[in-house]
Amino acid sequence: MFNLVIFGAPGSGKGTQSEKLIAEYGLHHISTGELLRSHIKQDTELGRVADKYISKGQLIPDELMIDILASELDAHPEVKGVIFDGFPRTIPQAQALKKMLAERGTKVHAVVGLEVEEKELIDRLVKRGIESGRSDDNPETIQARLKVYHAQTSPLRDYYMEEGNYKAVAGTGSIDDIFANIRDSLAGIQE
Ligand code: AMP
Repeated sequence: MFNLVIFGAPGSGKGTQSEKLIAEYGLHHISTGELLRSHIKQDTELGRVADKYISKGQLIPDELMIDILASELDAHPEVKGVIFDGFPRTIPQAQALKKMLAERGTKVHAVVGLEVEEKELIDRLVKRGIESGRSDDNPETIQARLKVYHAQTSPLRDYYMEEGNYKAVAGTGSIDDIFANIRDSLAGIQE
């Protein structure tokens, strides 16, 4: 398997670049945000729990999120690799992912970190909120999500730097230019 984590703050372009990575490398996409939003739409039990956190810009508890991820992995045993988009978001999630993949004889091959300045992130998220109507893309929740990102998620940058698989990529410029930089950062990585 060839597994990638696409990492970055809300609004850094993870979803957009994931689509291009899937097309290029034939990876299976696991977006925890999309998965949760689809549960909310279908009004499942998980969706009702998730909605309470998402609408406040908070993270779903690690234990629940890790269980969801493990079942997602087990549901797709045939894939040639996975792109993890929106997971991990905390150190315990990263440790759990490492363990889960090791149990399946594989690992995180690279973490693509999209690096974007705070002001640009806010501009993009406000714009996306107007266009997509995503309930958590309103100014108040955006601030909460960025705060959560700095407190709980950004430490993963150092975690993966230490693991030796963090690839920093400038997340500004045209979508195609950013993707070209991602591709360069992944050149030579072995399965
Ligand atoms: P996203 O679409 O990745 O921006 O995720 C939207 C929201 O879903 C986040 O603000 C969190 O409330 C929740 N969420 C998504 N992924 C995770 C995760 N790995 N851990 C905890 N909460 C998550």
